[in-house]
Amino acid sequence: MGSIFYNFNDCLDNLDSYEKTININVGLRPSGKLHIGNFATLLLSFMLSDTINSNGKDSMLRLTICDLDLPYLEEDGSPDNCIINYRDMPDEEGCHDSFSLHVSDNVEKTVRLVQGCGLNFNYEINFFSELQKELGYRVGLKKLLDKNMDVKMIYNGDRPRKSKSDKTLVYPLCPECRTSSKSSSRYDSERGVLSMECLNAMCDVDSFEFDVYDTEYDIAVHFFLNAIRDIMIEPFADVHVLGGDYASIHGGNRIRGVEKVKSLMELMGAGTPDYLVGPLLMGNNGQKMGKSIGNGLNFFELIEDQGDDIIYKMIDFTRENIINNTEYPKNDSLKINYEQIKSILKI
Ligand SMILES: [Zn+2]
Ligand SMILES: [Zn+2]
Repeated sequence: MGSIFYNFNDCLDNLDSYEKTININVGLRPSGKLHIGNFATLLLSFMLSDTINSNGKDSMLRLTICDLDLPYLEEDGSPDNCIINYRDMPDEEGCHDSFSLHVSDNVEKTVRLVQGCGLNFNYEINFFSELQKELGYRVGLKKLLDKNMDVKMIYNGDRPRKSKSDKTLVYPLCPECRTSSKSSSRYDSERGVLSMECLNAMCDVDSFEFDVYDTEYDIAVHFFLNAIRDIMIEPFADVHVLGGDYASIHGGNRIRGVEKVKSLMELMGAGTPDYLVGPLLMGNNGQKMGKSIGNGLNFFELIEDQGDDIIYKMIDFTRENIINNTEYPKNDSLKINYEQIKSILKI
């Protein structure tokens, strides 16, 4: 079983015995612009890969755009807070065919900028909408669905909740309108069948059902379950790099996000990768920096103002304060407050 690391060097030491290519997975949620907090997590994974390579080993970085996620749509007839495939969503800036491609292009630009500043790593970009169609992924998902109560206990706390907020973690997409909703989908464990009502008023479909293994249908999941790919789709991940917000308590019970992800994966009984938890960047209002909170600093706007300097500053900062920081907390991610961020970025 893998371990959870908050410290870069501890994570690196644990990989020391590997003879093969070390696989590093990172997930990117696409629901907005790349902000500096996302960049900090990405940079940590780039630097992990670069460090492994410069130690004479091989590593491969897989960046997955989790493009079945929760956007905020109100104007196009879709239900509010629905889940939709970003591949079907128009790119509002008009430069790509879909929002997914727009995001992947931004990720690629970011990689090129960082490699131009001297970091050396191999990478590929994947889309979660494709990975969830792999049979191995569905096998893992079905294992979790069959352990529904255990999943609920990890997710909600000691006592499974029986209320309206007792959410499922699995959201099938309507085959017609391609939306889903956060209201419960139902799972019939006897038949291995998921069923769902389509709540989109503009859609003719009332309800639908399908076999979990039927990859003609798309299944979105709570983002904690995205990590199924690490252990069910080859090549399996050795390390999964997570943002610093995974070190915080998630939901009603007192369990950290990263511990929930690990526990969920352990339910599949396939072993887990190591988890490296990145730094947590705090916004100007004392809350964590986040797209949904609206206090994120846009990475590309900073690049426009300052050019590559931003990247050099972030690399230096990460090397001095995260990688070479002997005072680094062993069981918590490093919190970087807004005053510190301003002085690092000189803004
Ligand atoms: Zn675009
Ligand atoms: Zn529909």
